Amino acid sequence: DNWIRVAEARKAEAAGRDCEVRGWVRTRRDSKGGFSFIEVNDGSCLGNIQVVAPGELDNYADEVQKLTAGCSVVVAGKLVESPAKGQATELQATSLRVLGWADPENYPLQKKRHSFEKLREWAHLRTRTNTLSAVMRTRNQISQSIHNFFHENGFFYTHTPIITASDCEGAGEMFRVTTLDLDMLAKSGGPVKFEYDFFEKPAYLTVSGQLNGETYATALGRIYTFGPTFRAENSNTSRHLAEFWMVEPEAAFFDLADDMRLAEDFLKRIFTDCLNHCDEDMQFFNERIQPGVIDQIRSVVERPFAHMTYTEAIKILETCDAKFDYPISWGTDLQAEHERYLTEVHVKGPVILTDYPSSIKPFYMRVSDDGKTVAAMDVLVPGVGEIIGGSQREERLDVLTSRMAEAGLNEEDYWWYIDLRRFGTVPHAGFGLGLERAVQYVTGMANIRDVIPFPRTPGNADF
Ligand code: ATP
Ligand code: MG
Ligand code: MG
Ligand code: MG
Repeated sequence: DNWIRVAEARKAEAAGRDCEVRGWVRTRRDSKGGFSFIEVNDGSCLGNIQVVAPGELDNYADEVQKLTAGCSVVVAGKLVESPAKGQATELQATSLRVLGWADPENYPLQKKRHSFEKLREWAHLRTRTNTLSAVMRTRNQISQSIHNFFHENGFFYTHTPIITASDCEGAGEMFRVTTLDLDMLAKSGGPVKFEYDFFEKPAYLTVSGQLNGETYATALGRIYTFGPTFRAENSNTSRHLAEFWMVEPEAAFFDLADDMRLAEDFLKRIFTDCLNHCDEDMQFFNERIQPGVIDQIRSVVERPFAHMTYTEAIKILETCDAKFDYPISWGTDLQAEHERYLTEVHVKGPVILTDYPSSIKPFYMRVSDDGKTVAAMDVLVPGVGEIIGGSQREERLDVLTSRMAEAGLNEEDYWWYIDLRRFGTVPHAGFGLGLERAVQYVTGMANIRDVIPFPRTPGNADF
């Protein structure tokens, strides 16, 4: 069995090897000399292996010369040094087997370039394009780096539930889960009791694993969750999805300063790994998607992140020359345009914003001595805006319960969360990173829908 992936076959040191390559045809070009060049890609890397198929092959006229984009093939032969530029090797085929044809009348991914918007209609096939495959390999690298970073720093990977009754962000953006047959109920004309619909209890899809994660942090010390989260918000923006993947570390005995350091080290590790391990894909983004993205990320890794309080940021935004669509003043949340001004014009790089007004942040964030702000931090980056939201958590029982009352939350519903403050409470902190926003930043992709395999947005959940 001498089957190798294209990533390996393309290396100069592979020249001389007898091997087999399996993949999908990108292009075919017949040469006047009675042989054909076939570019084959197997997803292992951005580049293709160039197959040279000689006219002597048994199936040359019947099959080889009928190959079109999208056909799947198994090619056996010898790798040789390639005289062509841009590739170290090429495969001199001794046999070429076609596994599956792809009718060129119907196969959508022909040579012509499609817009990303158009490609979203073929989410099941678009990963066969250069851009989407490069994005998905980079997404894979980031996921891997996330696990590596936390494991190396003593964090345990913890799974938190997808179905839950608690609206941790308090923003009312939860999808309801139901076991009721609503169609049948509607037809029968009977009363529809939405309030007891998950086996006679209310339940939703989680917006964040944080509260459950805190229970594990106050037992295992340092944990992280990494799973899908859901927001029933109108996600018709270039950076919101109804379903996205969130990474949420939580650490006992951490204060806000520790949390900020962790977030910065974490992001820098992800960025460095992408530069080091996704070289070819990063070059591609640098040339085709966002010119200069490599230098931008390199400089971010080398310098400390800027820090700024929310109050300072508001002063900058109030006094700058830029015209904003949304008015900004102390006590209002930042909009994308404000985040962009701060990162792209003012700081020209990432910035960690701290000490937000308690009125615009959820109940679990620790109230500061001034009584008006909380120990919160958001990490903002150019192009994307908020990439991380985090805070030190309120560990004082009395302050927590009065914050919950202010937010209109029932203590009985959160008895288990309150218990953490009743039994051995400790200062602790954590944050949430939206995986897709990190992928967007690293790749320079403009729309978040193009960095997740199957984007969920209003009206879009068919497959
Ligand atoms: P935004 O202000 O951009 O709406 P948020 O403050 O509502 O974000 P958080 O509740 O702080 O978001 O969630 C933590 C992180 O999850 C965010 O910093 C962001 O990276 C990511 N995130 C939040 N909402 C979405 C979404 N709808 N789609 C993709 N990622 C998201
Ligand atoms: Mg939001
Ligand atoms: Mg926000
Ligand atoms: Mg946030």
